[in-house]
Amino acid sequence: MASHIREFLGHEKPSDYYSKLAEELERTNSEYHAFNVIKKDTEAKNQVPFSTKANICVKGVETTAGSKMLRGYVPPFNATVVERMLKEGSFSFIGETNMDEFGFGTFGINTEVPARNAFDSRYAAGGSSSGSAVATALLKYHVAIAESTGGSISTPAALNGVVGFTPTYGAVSRYGLIDYANSLDKIGIMARSSDDARGVFDVIRGRDNYDVTCAIEKITNNKKGKLFVIEELLEKADPKIRSEFERLLDKLGKEYEIKTISMNILSDAIEPYYIIAMAEASTNLAKYNGYKYGFQYGEFNRRYNDFFTEARSNFGMEAKRRIILGTFIRSESVKARYYTKALMIRQMIINEMGKVLKDGFVISPTLPIPTPKIADVEKLTPVQNYALDVFTIPPSIGGFPHLTFPYAYVNEMPIGAQIITEQANDYALLDFSSKWEESFQYKYKHNIGSL
Ligand code: GLN
Repeated sequence: MASHIREFLGHEKPSDYYSKLAEELERTNSEYHAFNVIKKDTEAKNQVPFSTKANICVKGVETTAGSKMLRGYVPPFNATVVERMLKEGSFSFIGETNMDEFGFGTFGINTEVPARNAFDSRYAAGGSSSGSAVATALLKYHVAIAESTGGSISTPAALNGVVGFTPTYGAVSRYGLIDYANSLDKIGIMARSSDDARGVFDVIRGRDNYDVTCAIEKITNNKKGKLFVIEELLEKADPKIRSEFERLLDKLGKEYEIKTISMNILSDAIEPYYIIAMAEASTNLAKYNGYKYGFQYGEFNRRYNDFFTEARSNFGMEAKRRIILGTFIRSESVKARYYTKALMIRQMIINEMGKVLKDGFVISPTLPIPTPKIADVEKLTPVQNYALDVFTIPPSIGGFPHLTFPYAYVNEMPIGAQIITEQANDYALLDFSSKWEESFQYKYKHNIGSL
């Protein structure tokens, strides 16, 4: 299938290619806000442009994870994934992409200036890797290094009509990632084709002495003949999404045996996910007190509480909510009731999904609703918002690799479907979508940087 990376590398570029690209990105950024930082002085020579989500450290580039709290933070080192991309020699860093603060969000709106959907800027970009998806939909030749905790690659990829690949937990090093929830965070890729995603995966994956949890070295390609649809989850999809999804299944049914199955435990995956994610997030955010880590607000010559309160007021609304809830969940008196129970449910999900995934892929829509307008997302309550992660949380909580591919439009906006496989079988997903994506005849509205 289409490899934009190969195509790009096969053509000599004019010497001003990268400066022109930066100029054009600068221009589109005033409408789409895909980038937090655009690198202007690149010295690239025929290298494929790549961006990184703003929670991945890039040496010498302000990296804020979308938070006011990290204003002015310029890492003195590269994250392992960045280091590997640069070392490989075929890729050139062009900038850092917009995101929900620390990864807290589904639509990209929990940040100072939200990114906007590349198909229509009135619509939500999806999140939390909002800018990665928008940049991928805008740029013809580009790959994005993104990150997901509970769906942050799948969701924005689906809403902008690009491929979003979230590898097995532990297949890609998290060294240099600004953590959201360490037991759930995965660095992954967005691209315009699965072949491009595979090319990048092979560059960034593999053991790293700086991250002991990055222990998955061998990736398999066990083909599956069955596609499972989980009844309890599909019921939650909007009728328009369902009918497009059923058309997709008709098409795939020519090659795969499609089976609808019941997996009751997945109706209860959102609660343990948010309990675990918030508990871990609240411990990760504790270090940002403006003293050693985080933006220092004013001088130290004030009372302890005044200083820290002012420093921590730099957190946005959603971050504050998660600090309060996460701290509560971990407190001694309720820990057994929430946190410990959530860990038990997580293990049950891993076991049950693991059994099913031995036999076939699990497939679903990526989001239960058509792409919403930004104004409508702003009206959602937090619980309504969290509930929309219904399809992306099951693979996330289990550390199973998953991939979203664009396949249709609803209300003239792209929608995606997501397939999941067992741990370390990532290549099977990339092969599956590489085979099918061409038949969806996907059209991009923007082709910045086309040769
Ligand atoms: N929407 C989910 C959350 O807010 C997932 C976000 C993510 O994967 N970073 O936690």
